[in-house]
Amino acid sequence: MKTDPRDVLRRLDDLRAADAPTHGGHVLSYVYDSGLAELDELAAAAMRAVQSVNGLDPTTFTSVAVMEREVVGFARELLGGDENVVGTVTSGGTESCLLAVKTARDVWRAANPETSVAPRLVAPVTVHAAFRKAAHYFGLRLDLADVDPATGAVAASALSERLGPDVALVVVSAPSYPFAGLDPVAEVAAACAAAGVACHVDACIGGWVLPFWPDAAHLAPWDFRVPGVSSISADVHKFGYAPKGASVLLQRGRDRQRAQYFATTGWPGYPVVNPTMLGSKSAGPLAAAWAIIQALGHEGFEQRAFSCARSTAALAETIGAIEGLRVVGAPVGPLLAVATDEAVDAARRVDPHHWADQARAAGWYLQQQPGLAQADGTRLPRTTHLTITPVTERVLGDLSAALVRAADDVRGVPPVSAESVLGALPAELLGELTRADAPPLDAQSAFAVLTRIGLVGEEGAGAQPERMAPFLALIEALPHALTERLLTELLARAVEPR
Ligand SMILES: *Cc1c(COP(=O)(O)O)cnc(C)c1O
Repeated sequence: MKTDPRDVLRRLDDLRAADAPTHGGHVLSYVYDSGLAELDELAAAAMRAVQSVNGLDPTTFTSVAVMEREVVGFARELLGGDENVVGTVTSGGTESCLLAVKTARDVWRAANPETSVAPRLVAPVTVHAAFRKAAHYFGLRLDLADVDPATGAVAASALSERLGPDVALVVVSAPSYPFAGLDPVAEVAAACAAAGVACHVDACIGGWVLPFWPDAAHLAPWDFRVPGVSSISADVHKFGYAPKGASVLLQRGRDRQRAQYFATTGWPGYPVVNPTMLGSKSAGPLAAAWAIIQALGHEGFEQRAFSCARSTAALAETIGAIEGLRVVGAPVGPLLAVATDEAVDAARRVDPHHWADQARAAGWYLQQQPGLAQADGTRLPRTTHLTITPVTERVLGDLSAALVRAADDVRGVPPVSAESVLGALPAELLGELTRADAPPLDAQSAFAVLTRIGLVGEEGAGAQPERMAPFLALIEALPHALTERLLTELLARAVEPR
């Protein structure tokens, strides 16, 4: 071999050392640490055992069929499905959401063969971005309902009043990612059923933890026990603690689910029959998920959920008691969003993005979410998101202290304003960028803008800047189309060969 495998792995170790820590509870988004090292070992062994398998064909690699069947079976029971609920293991939440939308579109098209209009997808503005992607990929018109700017909650009527014959799918969340709100699933699903419209529950983040939540029986019903629910997405690589690459999409009704498949026998190669987007695919995440589910069992999941619940309650209390901050709305499950408490004097307020930056400097990674103007003119506040995992309980004391200290450090520091970030841009550049008839930026000019606003240095695009608050303020201040283009350039440059 040209390079000694040990040197290759040493180099990988070095690269990994620069990553945000995936274990230990210091990163409160992206990663879902069960806190059980032996579970990680089991997952790794299961992945290795199927390393060479092609998940494309469960009739050739029959282990894939057995594992998928068992994962789907466990999920179906968890989510209150009966024998008419069938499903698929996908590569992640986004793929589950994409496939739910594709299925709904194809079912709607089959029922409306004469229509040339694009069907509508109705959802609250808090619905995960994966549904914006799905609408974009599959040609649906997005019709998003505003939510209460103080709580992030959507009224059932705001969704049901949008129902009509051109609606292919209504999506609600259990809970939503940005504010952890449990959408009014029963009311919305009932309205959908009455109107003959499909209703998807996005339980990507809640699906593997809410069924085990301490007060699960007291939560408003949100799963297949609700009659009008047509499909549910639930990520095994979140609170199923599987490595990335595993989610479940369950659909009520075999006929509905068959519309999810793509099949062709009309080419000169092998017959293609795919329930998911990929062709050849890894069976690794499926095998890991399958192994973890058996190792944990209901009791193991419940213990982990209880731990998350204790930590979430403790953090909500700690943060609620921090002068200048507030927990948004009524979060359900192991996540919450934190905004400035506008009820206190400006001098005593804490900007959630400064707060997150300060916590980051102390080694705690919180996720900043930008404020957003809704269609009705109201503004959703900028917030900082925390996802709580079983391992959080081990670091709860340190984390709580760090959150309090970070707030003390930035209390009264005014939020980065749109004027100040835009003011830092050369006036003529700003004029060019925001001109109504500005042509789309090409790669070179987008890169030049990134350089001029200091987002990339001499060595090109690389890791995140230390302070993200100005960057988030820029996202709030500039038109979405522009920031989307600039961020595309930033991410594309990060993987360009140097
Ligand atoms: C994470 C998440 C998704 C998208 O899942 P990925 O696994 O990141 O692709 C969709 N919806 C909700 C509510 C989520 O939390």
